[in-house]
Formats: sequence, C-alpha cells, structure tokens
Amino acid sequence: TPRVVLVPTPIGNLGDITLRALDALKEASVIACEDTRRARILLKHFEIDKPTISLHEHNEASRSQEIIKRVQDGQVVAVVSDAGMPGISDPGLRLTNACADAGVPVEVLPGACAVPLALVGSGMPTEQFVFDGFLPPKSGRRQTMLTAALERESATSIFYESPHRLTKTLKALADLDPERWVCVARELTKKFETYHQGNASSLLEHFTKQPPKGEIVLLIAPQKLPKFLTDRSLSD
Ligand code: SAM
Repeated sequence: TPRVVLVPTPIGNLGDITLRALDALKEASVIACEDTRRARILLKHFEIDKPTISLHEHNEASRSQEIIKRVQDGQVVAVVSDAGMPGISDPGLRLTNACADAGVPVEVLPGACAVPLALVGSGMPTEQFVFDGFLPPKSGRRQTMLTAALERESATSIFYESPHRLTKTLKALADLDPERWVCVARELTKKFETYHQGNASSLLEHFTKQPPKGEIVLLIAPQKLPKFLTDRSLSD
C-alpha cells in the first residue's frame, strides 16, 4: 500500500537494523534522508540501491508536500534520519502531521533509539520519565533545565548531551545537589559502550580525570528513589 514509512536505523551497531526496516527500504520507491550521503553508506552496506531525496530541518515543510504527492501517486516513501528513530530529536514530525492533514497513511517501525535504551541500562526508575532533548548550550538555560530535572519528584530525567559540555554540566549538577544519583550512558550499542552510575560529585570527579568522548545520554534520578537505588546511592 502506498504510504510513508518512518524507518529507524542503527545508532552505532549495524546489527540493530530490523528485518522490517530492510523490507521497508527495499519496498520504497524513494528514501527520504536527513543526510543523503550518510544514508547511502548505510544503504550500500545492506545492498539497497534506491533513489534518495533529502528531508531535514530546513526543507521538511516544503519537502513534505512533495512526499505526500508521491504517496498519492501510489509510491511508498521511506524516511530515515542519521541514526535511530526519526522524529526523536530528528526530522519526521512535520511530515507526519502534514500526512495526517492530507489523509496519507504513515507507518512507524520500531527500532533503535538512545532514550529507552539508556533509561533501562541506567537502572533508574522507568515508571515515569521525562525526555528533555538536548541540553541547551547556553549556561543560563542549561541551569534552568537542570534545576527543573532536580525538582522532579518521581520522574527520571533524560537528556542528550555533548561530550564537550558534559563535565561542565556535571559540575553544575554537583553544585546544585552533589548527592543526586546520575548516570552517563556513552556510545550505546558500540564497541566502547559504558554506563557510569553514581552521585553527581563522584561522576564529576571521574569525568574530570577522564574527559568523555563519543555520544552521550545523561540521566538524572528523581528525588524519590526506589529502595534498590537508595541502598546503592548511600554506599556511593
Ligand atoms: N534519533 C536519535 C535516537 O533515536 O536516539 C537521536 C538523534 S540526536 C540528533 C543525536 C543524539 O542522541 C546524540 O548527540 C546523543 O546524545 C544521542 N545518541 C545517539 N546515539 C547514541 C549512542 N549510540 N549512544 C549514546 N547516545 C546516543
């Protein structure tokens, strides 16, 4: 059936592409990519030879209309971002809404995404969580976001963070609440994947000695900890 398919791609380990993702890419008439050059590397690896068009922050509004037209003409259009789930800190949402307006079906496939992976791997409470996206680069706004996270009573807070700013952020956290339980999830699904769990001041100490590299998800525990975490945080 003619439709738009949002296709998640690996976030570091090519083995994480799914069978359905490959089927959708093979079925598509065209693949809309956040970055066509990057996508072609992935497509080449899986021996998929399809025309690509770009779909990024700056052309998503206009490109959506073109994609809708293609589906109305009977095509299947697959959408991939640079990594992981389209629409999560990545393009895809404007297209999804434009399709809904136009009555064009959108299918979303499950697959790799750094947020749920880091959450479960962190061992933090999963019953309630807030994904706050990228921490803003400006220190004032970053401070506001961190303060809001620290005030959450029972929801775990999840941020995407740049390796260059992580130590500064941990410093800000340690100044605000040195005992708060924090997790730094790095290079998920890749060869040097690590999870560092500890209170803000101990993680600050660690990453000051060993400046972090690679892709990072930062998690901040809520004020109320379940017993399994209270015991760990007391011994930290
Ligand atoms: N759509 C993607 C997803 O589903 O996770 C997220 C895209 S966002 C532009 C990229 C950010 O996600 C990175 O800067 C990093 O914070 C986080 N991220 C992506 N892959 C990661 C990985 N393998 N390990 C840790 N964090 C990752």
